[in-house]
Amino acid sequence: MRLLIMGPPGAGKGTQAKLIAEHYGIPAISTGDIFRAMKTADTPLAQQVRDIMNSGGYVSDEITNQIVAERLAEADCENGFLLDGYPRTPDQVDTLDAALADRGTPLDVVLSLRADEDAVVARLLKRAETEGRADDNEDTIRVRQQVYAEQTAPLLDVYSARGLLVEVDGLGEIAEVSGRVFAALDDARGGAGSAELIGAPS
Ligand code: AMP
Repeated sequence: MRLLIMGPPGAGKGTQAKLIAEHYGIPAISTGDIFRAMKTADTPLAQQVRDIMNSGGYVSDEITNQIVAERLAEADCENGFLLDGYPRTPDQVDTLDAALADRGTPLDVVLSLRADEDAVVARLLKRAETEGRADDNEDTIRVRQQVYAEQTAPLLDVYSARGLLVEVDGLGEIAEVSGRVFAALDDARGGAGSAELIGAPS
C-alpha cells in the first residue's frame, strides 16, 4: 500500500504513521524526522534547515523533493510506503506524481487526519513541555498552523478530486484514532482480506 498521511501540525500524524506502518508492514517516512536528524550536522545546509524549521516555515521544494526521491528509491519502499508530512506544496505534489508515474506505482490512499486548530495548538504546547522540540513554542506553532492552512490544506482538494481522500477524526485516544484509521484504510482498499496486510487483527 502506498499512502500519504496529511493534517495540521499537532493532529497526531507522526504517532498514527508509526502505528499504520507497523500494522501494514510498510516504512513510515517523515520529512520532519529526516530534517530534524539533518539539522544537527555542522554544515551550511544543516544551518539553513535549522533556521527554517525554527521559524515555522517550509524547507525549499528543491531540497525536500530530492530527499524524498532518494528515500523512495530505497529497497524497503518497493512494497509500499507511508509518507508523513510530504507533499506539503503544489510543487511537491507534482514531483511526487512524476516520480510515482515513472515507476508505475500510483498512490492508493491519502489519509486526512482532521483536528481543529485550538485542539492541535493545545496538543503542541503540551508536547513542548514533554519533548522540548525547538519548533514547539507558541509563536512558531501559530506560524506553522498558518503556513499549513495557506500552503498545504488546499492540497486535500487535489487528492479529493482524484477520489483518493479518506478523512478520519484525529481527536481522541491514540488507540481509538488508530482503530478508526485502520477501519477507514481497509474500507478504502476494499476490505481487510488483502494479501498485503501484515499483522492485522484476526
Ligand atoms: P513536521 O515534523 O512534519 O511538523 O515538520 C517539521 C518541520 O520540518 C516543518 O515545520 C518544516 O519546517 C519542515 N518540513 C517537514 N516536511 C516538509 C515538507 N514536505 N516541505 C517543507 N518543509 C518540511
